[in-house]
Amino acid sequence: MKGRTAMNKQEKIKILADLVAIRSVNNNEEAVAQYLTTLLGKHSIETELVQYAPHRANLVAEIGTGKPVTVFSGHEDVVDAGGDWDTDPFDLTEQDGKLYGRGACDMKSGVAAMIIAMIELKEAATPINGTIKLLITVGEEVGEYGAEQLTQQGFMENADVLVIGEPTGYRICYAHKGSLDVQIKAKGKIAHSSIPTLGNNAVQNLLDLLTLINNKIQKVDVSDPAIGDFLFNFTVIKGGNQVNSIPGTASVELNARTIDEFNNTDVLKIIKTAIEKLEQQDSKYQFELNILMDLPPVDGDKKNKLVQSGQKIGKQVTNQVIPTFGGTYTTDAAKFLVGKQPTFPFMIFGPGNSSLHSSNEYISTKMYLNFIEIYKKLMLNNQNFA
Ligand SMILES: [Zn+2]
Repeated sequence: MKGRTAMNKQEKIKILADLVAIRSVNNNEEAVAQYLTTLLGKHSIETELVQYAPHRANLVAEIGTGKPVTVFSGHEDVVDAGGDWDTDPFDLTEQDGKLYGRGACDMKSGVAAMIIAMIELKEAATPINGTIKLLITVGEEVGEYGAEQLTQQGFMENADVLVIGEPTGYRICYAHKGSLDVQIKAKGKIAHSSIPTLGNNAVQNLLDLLTLINNKIQKVDVSDPAIGDFLFNFTVIKGGNQVNSIPGTASVELNARTIDEFNNTDVLKIIKTAIEKLEQQDSKYQFELNILMDLPPVDGDKKNKLVQSGQKIGKQVTNQVIPTFGGTYTTDAAKFLVGKQPTFPFMIFGPGNSSLHSSNEYISTKMYLNFIEIYKKLMLNNQNFA
């Protein structure tokens, strides 16, 4: 295809269909990385695979050279197909201007759009301002593992801008909540309930702890103007196995949706202080704290040049006004932006709608094709924001 400047519509849809056909349900992402490596290789774009685990690999690719470095990112994994589908979830099916398939929305269309934009610029031999860098990750849906690994290995160090293609549709997300998953185990000693002094009641000890934590956390009443309220929920509780036995173990899991005004560290401080207080008070209290997932909130600025460029280019391509919003979910940005200043230019802008994660997930064909144009223009106009 050397020398051609653009793929036709069917070629673009074929790439999305190929990606959807790869069952990268939080594993097997290496097949996605391999497919993209072959595709980019055909257009003389080199890639680097960063292995996360067997059969799981992130992908890094670049065009251009030097500064500024404009990073585009998406993830390879999809959630389980589940549910009742009217079509085969791994066979992309077009009906009434919509493309149905698992990952069509979240977010193989975003990944395909970025890849195609890059290929078309490369094939047209368009001069690039600095470097356009793609970071395609594993494990986004389960804890941003790939983004964490790439960040730890320095792939974000020279980044000047970050665009994540998660499914916002024709809206730009400029900030989002963090998420914290914690497990606490209480250790006791089993005994018959008629002679409880021989035992140590783990359920009671855990309840004492939860009361302390709850009293503190329920007083936290903070909200962020962009991303909304701080949220906290105990979500799983287990303990004991027989009504007439003093339980020897008990555990709780909790999830907090954090904001800058009350972040992950603030929540952990309340939990740790409560644990220390009880453990110092009486030796019967023995707790083990496990942090299962720790994704900080991402603060952004809806007036930064990147967001403004996204709005302007989005409007040029779609003829629609592109509004901004703060997200209540979390994305790879939580890991990519660790150590970056709050002013670091970042936005989430990608093809999508509310069908993500559900059965009959789809992307509008028009929106998918439009985002290829939007990404191309962003890549070409990065002197306005990078
Ligand atoms: Zn996603």
